[in-house]
Amino acid sequence: MDKHIYLDNSATTKPCEECIKAIEFCLKENWGNPSSSYTLGIDALETIEKSRHFIASFIGAKDDEIFFTSCGTEANNLAIKGTAHKCRKRGNKIISTTIEHPSVLNTLKQLETEGFDVVLLSPDENGKIRIDDLEKEIDKNTILVSVMLVNNELGTIQPIHKIKNIIKEKSSPALIHCDAVQGFGKLPIKISSLGVDLLSASGHKIHASKGIGFLYKSKSVNINPIIDGGGQEFGIRSGTECVPLIAGFSAAVNALPPIEDALEKQKKLYLYLKDKLQKTGRIVFNSPDDSLPYILNISVEGFKSEPMMNALSAKGIFLSKGSACAKGQRSYVLKEIGLSNDRIDSALRISMSRDNTFEEIDCLCENIISITDKMRRFKG
Ligand code: PLP
Repeated sequence: MDKHIYLDNSATTKPCEECIKAIEFCLKENWGNPSSSYTLGIDALETIEKSRHFIASFIGAKDDEIFFTSCGTEANNLAIKGTAHKCRKRGNKIISTTIEHPSVLNTLKQLETEGFDVVLLSPDENGKIRIDDLEKEIDKNTILVSVMLVNNELGTIQPIHKIKNIIKEKSSPALIHCDAVQGFGKLPIKISSLGVDLLSASGHKIHASKGIGFLYKSKSVNINPIIDGGGQEFGIRSGTECVPLIAGFSAAVNALPPIEDALEKQKKLYLYLKDKLQKTGRIVFNSPDDSLPYILNISVEGFKSEPMMNALSAKGIFLSKGSACAKGQRSYVLKEIGLSNDRIDSALRISMSRDNTFEEIDCLCENIISITDKMRRFKG
């Protein structure tokens, strides 16, 4: 095989040409400090503001509601710590779920040491938040509910608008934060219909580069900064702005195909993948039927993840057994949805992008069959 097959797009994506060009242009021609008052600086500032405007329009936000960060992790930290520290006089309860990304869970752990009351809700067997549990927990003391849009291991899509409705019905002052790192650019996100106060996204999941993300923060909401300094990004995120990566992020967003069309196309590839895998007779699906069609979590029964991944990698097929951050630990997400250790230990995450093809899926399935045949023979 002269070309590899990349199926780990939830870990990161290949930067698109448009992004690379925008970054290169800024590094070569537009490298001024956006805070400088001469033309070189003004040009850099203009690039940031154009990018901000483009991304804001993309999600139906105002320009001054977008704050560039270094990644999704930083956006999550800023949203959660920033809200907690700003609102601590109003209450100290924060509600989230047990299957959030570590950038949320570890931030919450830190806040617990500062005296915040953190309640983590267990999801149902599909990885969905149990709305009844949320309803019971929300009270006048709750300052924040943080729930991801799409789970990075399962592809489960959370009913964010329902969460918003519960908060409203209970007349709670709680803000709602959504970690949309795995959903941004894949699901149609409009702030007005999603109804969130804060939303995090990351460039490298949508064919931009690593090192750039943003936090959407509604104008009606105040949070504390977590980095103090020169007051860039409207005083919310100090530090000289990374103009090349901001321009690259905006260029990658601009290069996204229309979201609904891409989703339709992706659904076909996803159903084809599921059908082909099912026909191997060796797979169980861990993702729910209505998951985001870019992520499929499976278990190859009787075969551990690591040797399967390595054998596939030797054939030029790259995928993972779950979150790239987990580094060898058993998946807490799969544990939380009630899977057995055997099933968790044989899990693989296939995460696709617009670049994947039907031929690549054929190749993956053929290789799963041949590798499991070989391993069976070897086991005797
Ligand atoms: N949130 C989710 C759901 C993710 O999947 C990830 C990364 O995998 C992050 C947050 C962190 O994003 P970043 O890698 O940009 O820090």
